[in-house]
Amino acid sequence: MNDTHIPFNRPHMTGKELHYIAEAHAGGRLAGDGPFTRRCHGWLEARSGSARALLTHSCTAALEMAALLLQIQPGDEIIMPSYTFVSTANAFVLRGGVPVFVDIREDTLNLDERLIEAAITPRTRAIVPVHYAGVACEMDSIMEVARRHHLKVVEDAAQGLMATYKGRALGGIGDFGAYSFHETKNVISGEGGALLVADPTQALNAEIIREKGTDRSRFFRGEVDKYTWQSMGSSFLPGELTAAFLWAQLEEADRITRARLALWDRYHRMLEPLEATGVLRRPIVPDDCQHNGHLYYVLLAPGIDRQPVLDRLRENDIQAVFHYVPLHTSPAGMRHGRVHGSLDVTERHSEQLIRLPLWVDMTAGQQERVVEVLTAAAGTARQRVRISGGV
Ligand SMILES: *Cc1c(COP(=O)(O)O)cnc(C)c1O
Repeated sequence: MNDTHIPFNRPHMTGKELHYIAEAHAGGRLAGDGPFTRRCHGWLEARSGSARALLTHSCTAALEMAALLLQIQPGDEIIMPSYTFVSTANAFVLRGGVPVFVDIREDTLNLDERLIEAAITPRTRAIVPVHYAGVACEMDSIMEVARRHHLKVVEDAAQGLMATYKGRALGGIGDFGAYSFHETKNVISGEGGALLVADPTQALNAEIIREKGTDRSRFFRGEVDKYTWQSMGSSFLPGELTAAFLWAQLEEADRITRARLALWDRYHRMLEPLEATGVLRRPIVPDDCQHNGHLYYVLLAPGIDRQPVLDRLRENDIQAVFHYVPLHTSPAGMRHGRVHGSLDVTERHSEQLIRLPLWVDMTAGQQERVVEVLTAAAGTARQRVRISGGV
């Protein structure tokens, strides 16, 4: 790798990771739910306001736990966007659930709350809002529709740690919330995640499902004198080395978020003139949402071919990438899911979106180079549209 190369992501280390891992190693307590896991749980509960936070192997695992807790049965329907990562749907499909894909909003690319009610049938069990780019879905409307129809809300807050909606932490608003600490997210442990549980009476069930279907957590707390098989479950808890790494990251979560927001804001300012030319539009963050700088994207104007723009960035050693292939167009999505209404916004935006490199230690000079190359590439792309008699 040369020094002109600008990768899309570079995991940020806080410097304390190995220190805490050494501490766990010296303590000789390596299985899950040790002292570091408890510290992470306490932090997540304090920040999210949830009754219970439980570390998992991944956000995927946390979503699978939510599907088990909701006792999703074959044929149950779950309303979600098609513009999301596969795990949002997979977690429910594993239980025989049917994802019902609803379109996203023009501005935030989040589930369009105005379309949810019409997608509800007698089989609907839950709504899964995904907070894309750490920008909140319209949660008041979503919670209101859910309550009126006795549905549960599972927030896919994989990208939402440290972001808020009307001052409330993402992940802590619905019945369940799922965070990701995958190395591509803001706060990381390689692979990792957490489930947030709002209802204290569900917390014990969540602990049981996470501990192979046993009440081992209660046994460790001295609440029962032996532990036994209580319900369906699996092993969803990470070991202490992962928790020790994560603790070093959570301690620095405020600083990481500030750094990412500063980078995000700089892109946003630098790209204003390009947006004014009409060749692309920048992200839109509603007033009620405080995001976390998880990702910076641009949406190329309709008619502009994205591939040559991505190619030009790559030729200049800049790794910019597109994002989700809509699930309803994927082989498994077609087999297991169902579309409700038109997914026009999903289809249009997923074709035009480019994510720009953004990581904590990125320099202003690197950002300037990204914007320079993007500006030149977009200019060429627009000329191509003019010559071919397009927009
Ligand atoms: C990253 C991501 C996931 C999966 O997270 P893992 O921790 O890798 O399982 C799920 N949903 C969304 C929206 C994501 O961005």
